[in-house]
Amino acid sequence: RRLAAAAAYSGPGATSDGHPVALLANIGNPDQALLAAGHDVEGVGLFRTEFMFLDRQDPPSREEQAKAYTSVLEAFEGRRVVIRTLDAGADKPLAFADLGEEDNPALGRRGIRLTRVREELLDTQLDALADAYQATNADVRIMAPMVATPEEAQWFAAKVRERGIPSVGIMIETPASALCASDVVAGLDFASIGTNDLTQYTMAADRMQGELGDLLSAWQPAVLRMIQLACEGADDAGATIGVCGEAAGDPLLALVLVGLGVSSLSMALTRVPEVRAALAQHTLADCQTIATAALATTSATGARQAVSEHASI
Ligand code: PEP
Ligand code: MG
Repeated sequence: RRLAAAAAYSGPGATSDGHPVALLANIGNPDQALLAAGHDVEGVGLFRTEFMFLDRQDPPSREEQAKAYTSVLEAFEGRRVVIRTLDAGADKPLAFADLGEEDNPALGRRGIRLTRVREELLDTQLDALADAYQATNADVRIMAPMVATPEEAQWFAAKVRERGIPSVGIMIETPASALCASDVVAGLDFASIGTNDLTQYTMAADRMQGELGDLLSAWQPAVLRMIQLACEGADDAGATIGVCGEAAGDPLLALVLVGLGVSSLSMALTRVPEVRAALAQHTLADCQTIATAALATTSATGARQAVSEHASI
């Protein structure tokens, strides 16, 4: 029933009083890009690029990557496409970049850390992204996964900018980057909160272990406070901030996120209509009241309950 009501809305995402919130799709390959491009989204908020690298003996060449990235950017001509560079390791193992056994892969050399020891993987990928950027007309933005320090962010930003791609950001998915967001994001254009990993690392709960249940919820007050700190820090740094983890696709949680200050929500395509409808039924001030109510609770279930009482969906 809610989905049917949601179908009545379209166009750019916004609250009922016209505060814009970009509604974007998460995609994981060119086929999903084509599908998403035909839908009512303002672009892609998370293009996971691991599909190019998984299940192979050797890394893909610059040409092979450029071709795939170009096809995605062409599908979104004139729209935003946020591309995340390789996020291998832990839940996304990569055969040819295996750095040996680690006792705790989720705390090991994954994400940007892997590309610091296998720098040629990132260099080739960024060269391919620069080729695709030059060949197309999308609003391209590049971001790094698993950043924990300002130094990592600066190392990455320099590489992106020296290739002529103007918009660079990082994912905030470690408590370190949320707590120190103003320093980590300083000098960058944007940040995107990855609530899947941010929840895992804040709650010290393995995201692969579904039986951890409630601990793995972005409704946990500790996670909500991390998100609040990330938003405040990005604002101090003058960077825009969005969310691209699963949390962005939960209509009630989306209201909280907007109330905390995020300007974009990126989610599975199927989640967009309901989130659009939820935003269209609340003002920005409503969202802020809702966020305050969520933050005043002491449990995930309490936070959800408080929000459903305040929200009109
Ligand atoms: C996240 O961690 O929230 C995220 C969006 O990235 P992934 O799920 O690919 O790790
Ligand atoms: Mg992640």
